[in-house]
Amino acid sequence: MKDWLENILKTLAGKLTLAFLGLMSLVMLGMIVMLSFTIGRGPALAWAIGGSTLSAVLATAAFYAFVTRITDPLRDLTEFAQQTNLKRLGVRLDIRSGDELEILARALNRMMQRLDASMKRIQQLAFVDTITELPNRDRFRQETDEAAKSNAANNLVGAVISIDVDKFIRVQETLGQIAGEELLGLVAERLSAAVRASDRIVRLQTCIARPALLARTGISEFAVLIPDIDDPTQAGRFAQLVAAGLRQHFELGGHRIVLGACAGIAIFPQDGETGEEVLRSADLALSHARNGGRNRSVFFTRKMNQRALEKLVLENEIRAGIEQGQFMAYFQPKVDLGTGRIHGCEALVRWNHPTQGMVSPTKFITAAEETGLIAPLGDYIMRDAAKKAAAWLRRGIALRVAVNVSAMQFNDDNFTAKVQNILAETGLPASLFELEITESIAMSNPDRVIRLLEPLRNKGVRIAIDDFGTGHSNLAALTRMPFDVFKIDQSFIRALGKDRNAPTMIETIIAMAGGLNYETVAEGVETQEQAAFLKKRGATLGQGYLFGSPMSADQFEAHARNWAARADGLSPAPAIEGLRRTS
Ligand code: C2E
Ligand code: MG
Ligand code: MG
Repeated sequence: MKDWLENILKTLAGKLTLAFLGLMSLVMLGMIVMLSFTIGRGPALAWAIGGSTLSAVLATAAFYAFVTRITDPLRDLTEFAQQTNLKRLGVRLDIRSGDELEILARALNRMMQRLDASMKRIQQLAFVDTITELPNRDRFRQETDEAAKSNAANNLVGAVISIDVDKFIRVQETLGQIAGEELLGLVAERLSAAVRASDRIVRLQTCIARPALLARTGISEFAVLIPDIDDPTQAGRFAQLVAAGLRQHFELGGHRIVLGACAGIAIFPQDGETGEEVLRSADLALSHARNGGRNRSVFFTRKMNQRALEKLVLENEIRAGIEQGQFMAYFQPKVDLGTGRIHGCEALVRWNHPTQGMVSPTKFITAAEETGLIAPLGDYIMRDAAKKAAAWLRRGIALRVAVNVSAMQFNDDNFTAKVQNILAETGLPASLFELEITESIAMSNPDRVIRLLEPLRNKGVRIAIDDFGTGHSNLAALTRMPFDVFKIDQSFIRALGKDRNAPTMIETIIAMAGGLNYETVAEGVETQEQAAFLKKRGATLGQGYLFGSPMSADQFEAHARNWAARADGLSPAPAIEGLRRTS
């Protein structure tokens, strides 16, 4: 109410000033005319000229005042619009015209004030990690960018250390999201303390002027920017101390948690000219540290770039290969060691590369796993294998086909439905389908294995545990899971005759499988001696070059027919001593 009254009074005051000036000029003009008549003609003319001039000046002043009252605020408004257009949100309008323009100016000022505050908040959220309240990856990259450019100009050396907290994901999966976030807070505190002490640790002179910066750069990743170092070994020493600090246990909700850390170090400007490049180099070094085992710190080298490039090329080629149908299932026979019959086969992926010919999975499976391409590739092979086994069945060959399942395929919650769809689409009976899960996948989450595989097993799909003996089986968990087959890892078979413990290990696995009512498949059988030993010890099936290498679907069909025919007495006696081949 008070504002409103004030506005009216100001508006009236502005208008009254103008009216007063105009009125004054008219009154002056009138008085001069009257005076000139009363005083006489001569002086009257002088009075008339002087008076008219004065009136004209007053009228012009009144007109000028009137016009500038409109143009000045308009000029301010234009300036204001230009400034805000340049994202200068701190500008304010100062219009005191006492009319609607002033009201408009005040409203605009209030709007800009709110916009300014919101933008600052958005900026803060965009550059701060909300869990640890540390700068995030974008802010870290910007700061590194500035440091790299300034170091290049001033001939200084700095370092970026990327740190990955080992086992964090596992702790979060076990204790839940909230505990995971709390743990991240504790890790951030410990790292902050180490960074605060970095001047002492790496003895930096310039630290106070350009302090080290800590940021959270990924789910379990942090990074430290040290803008100035005298020598790269300081960064190495600092990385080791930080990692050692993280290996000290954490107390969280009554749990004693032991983590670990790996670190990758990049030195700038030599390992990158921009923030993006330096951070990428540090991350590449970190992935090498991770691959080399726990608790390592590794410096970036140019070679890593070359390898990363090769991986990228491989990734693109795999992607194109999937689209162009260059991948296919090959099949390797599994032979019943008791009857000598081919009992089934394992589908193994092969890549018919346009320039390199047939490529073995050992050359591309790791890249496919790292890039996530193993999921579409594995699904494709599963469908291809089922389709081909169904076609053999239609032609009178009823053989069970086993396919390998990667960890990524198994992480898909739709896995069970996907397998059921493949069987329905291809028309392959569930009893002729087998899934091979490696021991390490099985042991990493037994409950998941039960949840995803039990429904398939109930329909008749058989479940094999692959490469058995190489993982760390928990016997209690093992007996709970829905398995039918142990595939004895080929390293045990290869060790026969070389390692005196090998026979005992194989016998133990076979005895355990027998106790659990599982079948056993011995992998990598290459010699008759191995086959004879395995048969004697009661292994159910053998798979290896002795019985046939992995081959195309057509070759496998011919191989199976030929094998059965020879067993019927149409071909020379079986080459494998102790094995009886029957159709
Ligand atoms: P795996 O499942 O243990 O397959 C057995 C491997 O042993 C195959 O290697 C096979 O060619 C090889 N092998 C068979 N008999 C002998 C033998 O007598 N001596 C020796 N030294 N080796 C023999 P391959 O085909 O190179 O496959 C390697 C691994 O790649 C497989 O090990 C499996 O883990 C993976 N893999 C193959 N195909 C697929 C697939 O379609 N999906 C997924 N996820 N993984 C696959
Ligand atoms: Mg296998
Ligand atoms: Mg295997």
